[in-house]
Amino acid sequence: DLSQRVQIRGRDEIGELAHAFDTMAESLERSEYQRRQLLNDVAHELRTPLTNLQGYLEALQDGVVDPEPEVISSIYEEAMLLNRLTTDLQDITLAEAGQLHLHREPIALEDVILQAVQALSLQAERKQLTLSTELPKDLPLVEADAHRVGQILRNLLSNAIKYTPEKGDVSVSVHALEQEVQISVSDTGIGIANEQLPLIFRHFYRADSSRTRATGGNGLGLAIVEQLVHAHGGQVSVRSHVGKGSCFIFTLPITEQILI
Ligand code: ADP
Repeated sequence: DLSQRVQIRGRDEIGELAHAFDTMAESLERSEYQRRQLLNDVAHELRTPLTNLQGYLEALQDGVVDPEPEVISSIYEEAMLLNRLTTDLQDITLAEAGQLHLHREPIALEDVILQAVQALSLQAERKQLTLSTELPKDLPLVEADAHRVGQILRNLLSNAIKYTPEKGDVSVSVHALEQEVQISVSDTGIGIANEQLPLIFRHFYRADSSRTRATGGNGLGLAIVEQLVHAHGGQVSVRSHVGKGSCFIFTLPITEQILI
């Protein structure tokens, strides 16, 4: 409550103390607001699949629909959405609390990339997209958690596929610099407007064109990518042109200068 703040503006020690309390109170209010916002978003995201599940189950119970394979697979998909949402939320909360434990070891990036590409190849095929890789020979090993790097790549690739119209191109390329490796995932898709670029890494943020459920995301993918890249001591950035495509670039340190 702002009215309860100490309003001393002098430059003496008490003034400075009051100022410090003021700043602390502001930051508490901000994090309390963010916590409420997050809970609200979570409730909102849970509601749709739960309502759908309830609908299917009631229809089955009332004999309005039969337990045919399509009905079962729709129910299964809603359950998968809920599952994905809870896993994603857990990853985010752990990462933000600095409690995400990485199992770092020297890994061959090309193996992880090829696995991720393989995992998404069916999705790309369905939209007749070409999914290619550009991997230089003799890539240095990176000190990273292979499972988490796979997760970063799958999130970026799955976005690239979701937001690229049929017959487009999606590619992964790697460049080794002195102390880091740069991995780019680019697409020839719908692109992202400049004013939205700073927002897309936020929890649950989805640009207008993708708010429909048709693309099947929950708005947590990029927030997780950012957290995982930072946990490895890397950086993530994006370049995009509306109507032309997007390119997400992240770095992983080669040497052992990794933040814990
Ligand atoms: P979502 O589950 O909505 O895909 P993300 O956190 O992965 O959530 O992405 C946030 C938003 O950023 C998306 O809703 C979309 O608007 C935008 N976005 C992400 N990747 C791309 C891309 N490759 N091309 C165009 N827009 C993208």
